[in-house]
Amino acid sequence: MGRRISLTNVGRSFASLRMTYSKENLHIEISKTSDVFKKKTMSKILIIEDEPELVKVLRDYLEKANFDVSTAYRGDTGLSTWQHERPDLVLLDLNLPGMDGLDVAREIRRKGDTPIIMLTARVEETDQLIGLELGADDYVTKPFSPRVVVAKVRAVLRRSAAETSPTQVLRIADLEIDMDAYAVSKAGNPLDLTPTEFDILSTMAANPGRAFSRMRLLEATQGAAFEGYERTIDAHIKNLRAKLESDPKNPQYIETVFGIGYRFARQ
Ligand code: CA
Repeated sequence: MGRRISLTNVGRSFASLRMTYSKENLHIEISKTSDVFKKKTMSKILIIEDEPELVKVLRDYLEKANFDVSTAYRGDTGLSTWQHERPDLVLLDLNLPGMDGLDVAREIRRKGDTPIIMLTARVEETDQLIGLELGADDYVTKPFSPRVVVAKVRAVLRRSAAETSPTQVLRIADLEIDMDAYAVSKAGNPLDLTPTEFDILSTMAANPGRAFSRMRLLEATQGAAFEGYERTIDAHIKNLRAKLESDPKNPQYIETVFGIGYRFARQ
């Protein structure tokens, strides 16, 4: 009773909190979803298309799929919108007033590497476009299903994200921590860690020698930390050491920092 509950770092990967409070018990349930995070980093899509009906349908579908959408109805205004807004992806019609879609694509390619999905009116057009090697990332032939467009948008964004962010692998002594795959191996042998153990280990291993308080490690695992729950970290550390260390009583990797918490030893 009377224990202070503090939430820190709320909003990063924190979605909902349910607390049941009785005389004997304080029960806290945290559901983690990545939706909050997704919303914060919503991808921005620019539609350059002169058919208002088509723009409307695409916008509706993309917004429902959680994209941030801007639109332009002409090639020239589309290009300036691209310059100002720097979207994550452009849906580009081929036949546009003001400036031809091909020229818009060339300009975008000349000045940046925004992924482009071309909207073409006929299959033959698509063939010609591929021949032109404009660097468009994909093509959709009209009439298309907006669902297919959304799927292609997602696929192209995934591909371009994979190209721009190289795999992050930490290698320390005989440990290999793959931040993207959530995988850890020791001397080439995969270790079976829980997601919480992985979060704790990777947080510390990214900064060898630095002492982490239990509270800070709790935050790393949940995105929100509750005072009074720091000791749960001790149990996770115990399990981690059992999996990681040759001799858990004399840890080589995870050291105790008395009065503070833990640190990953400099190797
Ligand atoms: Ca058109």
